[in-house]
Amino acid sequence: MRAFRCHRGPPVSVSAASVTATGTLYVVATPIGNLDDISARALRILREVALIAAEDTRHSIRLLQHFGIATPLAACHEHNERDEGGRFLTRLLAGEDVALISDAGTPLISDPGFHLVRQARAAGVRVVPVPGACALIAALSAAGLPSDRFSFEGFLPAKTVGRQARLQQVAEDSRTLIFYEAPHRILECLADMREVFGADRPAVLGRELTKTFETLKGLPLGELHDWVAADSNQQRGECVVLVAGWQAPEGDEAISGEALRVLDLLLGEMPLKRAAALAAEITGVRKNLLYQVALERQKDA
Ligand code: SAM
Repeated sequence: MRAFRCHRGPPVSVSAASVTATGTLYVVATPIGNLDDISARALRILREVALIAAEDTRHSIRLLQHFGIATPLAACHEHNERDEGGRFLTRLLAGEDVALISDAGTPLISDPGFHLVRQARAAGVRVVPVPGACALIAALSAAGLPSDRFSFEGFLPAKTVGRQARLQQVAEDSRTLIFYEAPHRILECLADMREVFGADRPAVLGRELTKTFETLKGLPLGELHDWVAADSNQQRGECVVLVAGWQAPEGDEAISGEALRVLDLLLGEMPLKRAAALAAEITGVRKNLLYQVALERQKDA
């Protein structure tokens, strides 16, 4: 007899013969560029499991070959994850260990794996994280922006209207904001951030982290946009954008009662963005500041 803890409820005693131990699903982080960043534990687990569920088997085979690992691979990507998850579950429930990896970094972080992990946990399978590289954490750890509280926003919508709308939702968040972005959209993305957060908001671009041409450039958003625009090399490779959180205005930045009255009058007559722009022209207060205040007033209304 041995103690057995099922996934809900207290430990129960069962006879060994009646227990079929399930396998373990290991969620294994792989490098985001520099292959030396893989952990010794990750390598051992990738060697020992019965099967590796990989986002792109053709991509991962190169990583495994580099480390001399011959474990069989099977595809687990966003298009088959829901339907094919059962295939991995069957193996796990039969007692085999499976490792989940993505093309780079930590699975599930803007990568496939969520459905499989959820299904495995629901079926009572033990799910074990094997931590390692993650672009957002690597960038945050070296960006010099407040790291005590942050919000990971993943990828923004591809088109300006959707992107600006999403940015507006977090414009008043006081936490450091972290975004993933594709290189061919980095300039438009920085332009929209400048528009919504204001040109003065501190930001950091983390590009090609852990690779040969690693860049971590910190500048106010307006200057960062211009710096990237002036150098096409900065528009290549993989990037993370970090933006300092919103800070409530103080002292000289405080808005006078008169400026607020103008803003409120205009808000009653026209869309928010236009009202903030016009109020800025009339009162001389910064447009972005009025925009943030207008957002707050609309929320409170
Ligand atoms: N799962 C990964 C992780 O843990 O970071 C992220 C996968 S997501 C599909 C890919 C995005 O992550 C890229 O478009 C980029 O925004 C970011 N990224 C990945 N590797 C990076 C690197 N070496 N430097 C900067 N950003 C990177």
